Amino acid sequence: MANRIPRVPVREQDPKVRATNFEEVCYGYNKEEAMLEASRCLNCRNPRCVTACPVGLQIPRFIAEVAAGNVAGAAAVIAEDSSLPAVCGRVCPQETQCEGSCVLGVKGEPVAIGKLERFVADYSRELTAAAGDGPDRVSDHPAIPLEGVQGVKGSDGTKRRVAVIGSGPAGLACASDLAKWGYDVTIFEALHKAGGVLEYGIPEFRLPKEKVLRHEVDAVRALGVKIETNVIIGRTITIDQLMDQEGFEAVFIGTGAGLPKFMNIPGENLCGVFSANEFLTRNNLMKAWREDYLTPIHPGKKVCVVGGGNVAMDAARTALRLGADVHIVYRRTEAELPARREEVHHAIEEGIIFDMLTNPVEVLGDEKGWVKALKCIRMELGEPDASGRRRPVPIPGSEFEIPTETVIMALGTSPNPLISKTTKGLDVNRWGCLVVDEAGATTRPGVFAGGDAVTGAATVILAMGAGRTAAKAIDAYLKQQ
Ligand code: FAD
Ligand code: SF4
Repeated sequence: MANRIPRVPVREQDPKVRATNFEEVCYGYNKEEAMLEASRCLNCRNPRCVTACPVGLQIPRFIAEVAAGNVAGAAAVIAEDSSLPAVCGRVCPQETQCEGSCVLGVKGEPVAIGKLERFVADYSRELTAAAGDGPDRVSDHPAIPLEGVQGVKGSDGTKRRVAVIGSGPAGLACASDLAKWGYDVTIFEALHKAGGVLEYGIPEFRLPKEKVLRHEVDAVRALGVKIETNVIIGRTITIDQLMDQEGFEAVFIGTGAGLPKFMNIPGENLCGVFSANEFLTRNNLMKAWREDYLTPIHPGKKVCVVGGGNVAMDAARTALRLGADVHIVYRRTEAELPARREEVHHAIEEGIIFDMLTNPVEVLGDEKGWVKALKCIRMELGEPDASGRRRPVPIPGSEFEIPTETVIMALGTSPNPLISKTTKGLDVNRWGCLVVDEAGATTRPGVFAGGDAVTGAATVILAMGAGRTAAKAIDAYLKQQ
């Protein structure tokens, strides 16, 4: 029986070696391994994995193609629903989505859906590269079929124009669908590179930029989507101007949630205190880890990262690779860590030290204004709070100091208020998130939104799903106009 085959393990870089470099941790499957793993799938009649995927990827269909050795066929199935398969195969929390619902997981190990998706995307990309063609023509990207093009034209015969703000997964997914349906789409991106958090937040060792991300962004460009970088909507130009003066008939806002939170404890303004966003942006986007760039970071020999999510793990593992001993300071226990299990496991393997049930109360500085220690208090778990998790309570008199040169706050983020403050008629809720209906329409006619700008910090696949939902609503809206 197919499901008697154990899950095929994936090869990874040795933890001791990878702790000193920024190369990708996971090597992924080769074709034989992928075909063997794919043969474990039962091709369920009512596949629970599909229901659990936020973009409804046709999982058993693509896996059946892999099992048959037809990787191009598998890529075509994935492309029906996802424009970022190499990204999602790497960073999606499959353990709580598709793989978390796989029927094989009830008594054993679920099918490695994420690793198979990654294999299909990587193998297709490498084939394209081996064929020697650059990603200049749509036909160079068999993974993105052009069926469904409706040639949406305005009354003067030109394509109707849609502006997408932000080039993260929400913006890229929305722009891809609209371009496939024949709209003239321009993405406006504040930074100098496209990709959103995929470019500036998630480190190279989890998501290689040139090899993987750039290819998927180029595939979106190859659909005809224009990407204008270094344009801050709300500063360079406003949404009102885009719609009233520049001829855009609809706008999608996918500006994410990039505004960092701090603890508001004494000493947070000392030199050597970073938000995780700043630390990761300087490393990933400004390439601080590369010797050929003139924009280094010097975190010193000891670093404390405060928080327990994916962002904290990424910041900690980045600081480790820059040569520091790293402590993660978290106020609950390992069981409550919000980061993906795989990321926590990798961090422990690499030698990150976890200080659990510990909460900072003050950052201590030297006479020159630089961080010298993090003063913390021990915690214990009390009654459950509104989230259902047991509330951490300080133990009086248990304060102690962790000597450190750098403190990185990874406590979550919220949407930047720039767009809502500079656009008429856009409502936000009390967390600063844009208010939308279930189709992604904001309170301003013709303006739609999705991703972290609406939900607050969430996941890549949810952002992509929201971008696709809004694309459908924009299509319906423009057809009614
Ligand atoms: P973003 O990816 O934030 O993109 C928004 C884009 O809009 C940015 O490029 C920004 O520069 C641009 N922008 C903002 N304001 C303007 C403006 N006024 N004008 C023009 N452009 C603007 N999710 C996972 O699923 N798995 C993970 O492993 C994972 N790890 C993560 C690690 C880190 C360090 C971080 C920070 C997040 C991680 N996430 C992960 C979350 C995930 O990356 C986000 O949920 C997702 O990227 C949100 O997509 P988005 O398109 O809504 O926004
Ligand atoms: Fe295959 Fe698991 Fe999905 Fe069933 S639930 S189709 S076994 S991946």
